[in-house]
Order: sequence, then C-alpha cells, then structure tokens
Amino acid sequence: VKSRRKWRSVVEILKELEEGCDTPVGRLRQVVDAMAVEMHAGLASEGGSKLKMLLTFVHHLPQGTEKGTYYALHLGGTYFRILRVLLGGERSYLDVQDVERHPIPSHLMNSTSEVLFNFLAFSLERFIEKEGDGSSSQGVKRELAFTFSFPVKHSSISSGVLIKWTKGFEISEMVGKDIAECLQVALNRRGLDMHVAVLVNDTVGALSLGYYHDPDTVVAVVFGTGSNACYLERTDAIIKSQGLLTTSGSMVVNMEWGNFWSSHLPRTSYDIDLDAESSNPNDMGFEKMISGMYLGDIVRRVILRMSQESDIFGPSSSLLSEPYVLRTNSVSAMHEDDTPELQEVARILKDLGVAEVPLKVRKLVVKVCDVVTRRAGRLAAAGIAGILKKIGRDGGGGITSGRSRSEIQMQKRTVVAVEGGLYMNYTMFREYMEEALVEILGEDVSQYVVVKAMEDGSSIGSALLVASLQS
Ligand code: ADP
Repeated sequence: VKSRRKWRSVVEILKELEEGCDTPVGRLRQVVDAMAVEMHAGLASEGGSKLKMLLTFVHHLPQGTEKGTYYALHLGGTYFRILRVLLGGERSYLDVQDVERHPIPSHLMNSTSEVLFNFLAFSLERFIEKEGDGSSSQGVKRELAFTFSFPVKHSSISSGVLIKWTKGFEISEMVGKDIAECLQVALNRRGLDMHVAVLVNDTVGALSLGYYHDPDTVVAVVFGTGSNACYLERTDAIIKSQGLLTTSGSMVVNMEWGNFWSSHLPRTSYDIDLDAESSNPNDMGFEKMISGMYLGDIVRRVILRMSQESDIFGPSSSLLSEPYVLRTNSVSAMHEDDTPELQEVARILKDLGVAEVPLKVRKLVVKVCDVVTRRAGRLAAAGIAGILKKIGRDGGGGITSGRSRSEIQMQKRTVVAVEGGLYMNYTMFREYMEEALVEILGEDVSQYVVVKAMEDGSSIGSALLVASLQS
C-alpha cells in the first residue's frame, strides 16, 4: 500500500508538470502576439522592452558572387569554432576548407578578458600554422569574422561593446568593453596578421548563410546552448534610431529574444527555482525554457523532486542535486531511446547515481523529457511565428484571418534559417517545433514558410559577410 501511495505521488508530480507545461494553440497564439508587441516596443525606444532589438549595422547580406579566402572565429556558449572558406564567385562555389570545433575550456568562462582573448588568439595561430606554405593567402592580411554569441551594443558592423554575459559566462570586467578590439589586440600581441573585419552575432551569421543560398531568407534563429533570433527589418521601422540611420533600406536586427518574457509563458516551480539559482536571475527567461543549456536541468529538477517524494528511484543520490549534471544531450538520448528495455535511460540514470530502476520508472523519466522538450519546441515555434507576424508574413493572423484563399496565395515565400546543436541533434525538439509552427500558422500559410537547417551557419555565414564587404 505504501509503495502504491508513493507511486501515486510521483504520478501526481508528473500530472502537475504536464499541466504546468501545457501549450495549447490558443496559448501559443498569445505568446505570438506578445512577441510581436514586444518587438515593436523594443524598436520604438531604448529600454522599451525586455527585447533589446539591437542594431547590427548589417545592411546588406551576401549575394553569392563573393570571392576569396576568409576566416571565421565563433565563440558560442559551449563550443568555439574556427574555419576557413574559399569562395569562387558563384553560389555553388563555397568551399569550407577547414573547420575546427572545440569545447570552450570551462575555466575561461570566469577568467579575465586577457586570458580569454589570448586563448582565442592562440587557437587561431595554431589553426593558421596548419595551412603551411600552400596557403592561398600567404603574405596577404587575413580577413576574419568574429561571431560572438552574446549581447553586444554595436557602433558599427565591426565594433561593439558587451552588454552582459549569458549562458554561465562571468567575466565582469569585460562588460562595456569593445569585443572586436579585445580580439584584435590579442591577435596583434601574437603577431598575427589578421584583421577583425566584422563582429556579428551567431544568428546574423546564420541569416547570412541562409540569404547567400536563398534570398527569401529573412529570419534566422539559433537553438544551441542559448537561443536567439534576428531578422531583416526596414530601417524606417527602427523608430528608436531615427535620424541616426538612413530611412531607406533595411538592417538586420538582433532581437536577443532569449530575454523575452510574457505572462502567457507557461512557467513551473522548476523554472522559478532554476532561474533563482542561476548566475543571471531574472534574466533570459525565454532562453531558460527553450535552450540546450537549461532543458537538462529542468528535467533533473523534476526527477530530483520525484526521488525526494518517493523511493521509486532507490536510495537518494547526491549527484542528482548537482545543478547541470544532466545535460540536454542526455535528455535527447533518453527521449529517443528505442531499445525495448530503455537501456540508454538506465545507463544515464546510473551515471546520475540512480541504479536499477524498474522499466515503469524509466518510462516515467522519458515522459518527463517529453513534456519539457515539447514545451520548448512549441514555445520556440510561437517565437518564430511572432517574428513572422511582426513582418507581415504570418498570413495576417493565421487561420482566424478571414482572408480568402487567393489572398493567402499572394503571400511571399519566407525562409527561416535555423541552426544550433539543440535543433540539429535533437529530433524530437525539431519535430515539436515544426509541428507547432504549422498549427499556429495554419496549413495554407505554412506552405509559404520554409524552415531550413544551416549547419555551421553562424561561422560560415559571418565569413561570407566579410567577403560581401570586400566586394
Ligand atoms: P553553442 O551554442 O555553444 O555555439 P551549438 O550550437 O553546437 O554550440 O549548441 C551546443 C548545445 O546544443 C549543447 O550545449 C547542447 O545543449 C545542445 N545539444 C548538442 N547536441 C545535442 C543533442 N544530441 N541533444 C540535445 N541537445 C544537444
């Protein structure tokens, strides 16, 4: 009787989680509307919204005719990447010649700016040394794109200061410093003949690669360690900068959507605790519900509570109380475990100090992963639909629009470039997102909205952007 009661209390926790994470399409539409409203507010005045809607000074995207050899360095949240691309002057001639991808050593995340940038310069130096004598750019200054996936206030396409850290980085003296200059100084110190030609956000890189391949690409979203989006906006709609910008033409706006907030977002006690115990409380609320750094920890918190309120997970494991021990990679591995006995789930739970739980408990864990990731995917879709609404590409209110079929057929094709480790590797997240996007937009409008994966887009695309500035 006792064990049945305990099982019941765990089922109760699951039920409460499901209710707390519920995202019926009506609620998603409220999130869509809130996103569009906040975008307007963030464009209207500085500090007018939690969405910073940052200027990027990117007015033109790569056309496909660019030529030459270019480099990109990308500092993400978990990884940094270095690559070299060779462009032959037409779209089909894009050769990614060398790519390196490494985890960012964790001690760098709370070191000093000097240590961080010396490390990046050192890594670039080693990358270039590999080119040997056969290098196509021997004797020529190398042009470098710096993709920096944190919020930056730009003063030009190649300069800008760090507004704040996110994703667990904490180097406080760097806030307010010019990021491109920090890198350039470190490169000079090592005697590297490289020029930091652009400083861009990862989303802007993804948009650039998307546009290079397909000029209908006007929105880019990243779901990796963190999450963010950018899109092409008319400069006359950027009210807060009137007078500073020419009103003709367009500019890419970096939304910093990770900080989006709306009372319509379904928030649970796990989200509240995760936020309170994070390095940036009251910040990046949307990111904390939808991105790779956090999904694992939400799942961990649910399992921890289940293990505290019952003995179905056996003797309590101190490991389970450790923040971020459960990575989102493991969540997707458990969620997508197709072995009949859920062996992958058993293995991962064992690594968390929870050994030998019965199959029905393993199934329960898979369900928890599903609930958390489904909410993430659906909210991500609502965010994208919010951008489409802002730029008038949502068919005018989706299925409730009352527009005629022929009017909808007039709708422009819209490509959304998507990238990031979560989206690329977690199939269920991707499927939930894409399914919800169709649900929100309706079948008719969805036909005009193409979601395209851009592998390594944030680095390749920013190298293309450098190339487009030279031509
Ligand atoms: P970054 O955000 O550091 O630039 P990525 O875009 O490659 O780098 O995203 C890395 C993140 O993506 C990881 O921290 C993890 O949260 C998530 N991720 C990577 N692989 C998987 C996977 N197989 N399943 C779920 N999430 C994954």
